[in-house]
Amino acid sequence: MSVTTTAPTLLLDDVTKDFATGTRALTGVSLSISRGEFVSVVGPSGCGKSTLLRLASGLEDVSYGTLAVDAAVTSFVFQDPTLLEWRSAQKNVELVGELAGLPAAERAQRARDALALVGLDGFEKQHPRQLSGGMRMRVSIARALVAEPQLALFDEPFGALDEITRLKMQTELQKIFQLKSFAALFITHSISEAVYLSSRVLVMSGRPGRIVDDIELPWSYPRPPELRYEPEFGRIAGHISKALEENS
Ligand code: ADP
Repeated sequence: MSVTTTAPTLLLDDVTKDFATGTRALTGVSLSISRGEFVSVVGPSGCGKSTLLRLASGLEDVSYGTLAVDAAVTSFVFQDPTLLEWRSAQKNVELVGELAGLPAAERAQRARDALALVGLDGFEKQHPRQLSGGMRMRVSIARALVAEPQLALFDEPFGALDEITRLKMQTELQKIFQLKSFAALFITHSISEAVYLSSRVLVMSGRPGRIVDDIELPWSYPRPPELRYEPEFGRIAGHISKALEENS
């Protein structure tokens, strides 16, 4: 019998991050995320959530401990869609293929496919100012997914959206996640968003951030929007809320 082991897509072992200012942002953080896992992080403001994402993306180095990424492509989605105003939705997404040197026809097809994936077929020619906030975020997600990442990092992507749009985006993101099966690290302030989207939720303490709770969610994907009204959903959200209060 042969046993196959695959390395986690993102692995942190006992990571501490100190900034040159003397601020210790994170301490003793260990976590492992593999493809097909959607891990959200909730924690009080300033506890080091964004720092964790920046470490995972390689924008910052760890001070102590180890961090390993096993992904040919890592994508980042920010709260601000950061689109180029003078380019259409299609051309914003195509930019990734342009920078990678893909032939024009191939990058155009990939961009169309990615826009269709996020429900924007028919809007390819629109410019960012002609799109709603939710649609701009869809373009941003399409741009992140067009390169077929193994690791996708999300820094509060739905934080600036109105509640209805936000719920819709959550429903769509977990469907896309089921289709594409990347490894996801998702930062949010919303406990219900974390519970709805994730296979695991990590709760962080106040600064310096440590992981104080690690909750596995029992539901498979895709998840119906009505899951949010289930008693088990409420029970888990309540548990996370309590863990946050006790560790802030
Ligand atoms: P969160 O995303 O949880 O709100 P951050 O990761 O942005 O928290 O910040 C964690 C702590 O690290 C904060 O006290 C912040 O001021 C500090 N910090 C973040 N980035 C830097 C930096 N480049 N230099 C110095 N301190 C920083």
